[in-house]
Amino acid sequence: MVKGVTLITHPLVQHNLTRLRDKQTQPQEFRRVLGEVAALMLYEASRFFAVKPLTVQTPIARATGLELRHETVLVPILRAGLGMLDGILKLVPHARVGLIGLKREETTLEAGFYHKSLPADLSRFEVILIDPMLATGGSAVAALDLLSELKPKNVCLLNLVAAPEGIRRVHQLYPKLPIYTAAVDKGLDKRGYIIPGLGDAGDRLFNV
Ligand code: URA
Repeated sequence: MVKGVTLITHPLVQHNLTRLRDKQTQPQEFRRVLGEVAALMLYEASRFFAVKPLTVQTPIARATGLELRHETVLVPILRAGLGMLDGILKLVPHARVGLIGLKREETTLEAGFYHKSLPADLSRFEVILIDPMLATGGSAVAALDLLSELKPKNVCLLNLVAAPEGIRRVHQLYPKLPIYTAAVDKGLDKRGYIIPGLGDAGDRLFNV
């Protein structure tokens, strides 16, 4: 397996990924399943979140447990990243949500910003950058450049499907960045789509 990439092989994740890959899957089901698989993936990606001890009073006695050490910021990349947000929020309802809008230029396949809203200082936060598809890596790198300026405590990248080209590009610039994905596919076609991938995640999600 590729260094720095955690392949989430859980049967429920893989089952849902196959449903999403299937072109017969209609937008209504695509939305639901993408949300569900995102929650399952977050469960894996949060496995190494830092915790700290917390003592509480049960109805019977005092009990010492753990709580998350850092606040969480979820940053979906618009638009397809929105399809994973609600599912993930079910597991971390206390999380803050930042948004990054990036559009791929059709000819160069390079990413440009059309929207940014993030907490001003990320130094207290675990940041999860969310995009179902890691294709060329252009959007991920642009988003990571922006996040790095805000000095996050930790960042990880959550992608349903990743192309080797995207992983390489991200890890060239951010060698230590943990990437969580349900699949590393064969590569990219001429238009920058992942093969076999699942098509245009945004179009399938928003039914356009
Ligand atoms: N974005 C998508 O939605 N699908 C791809 O295959 C590549 C980028």
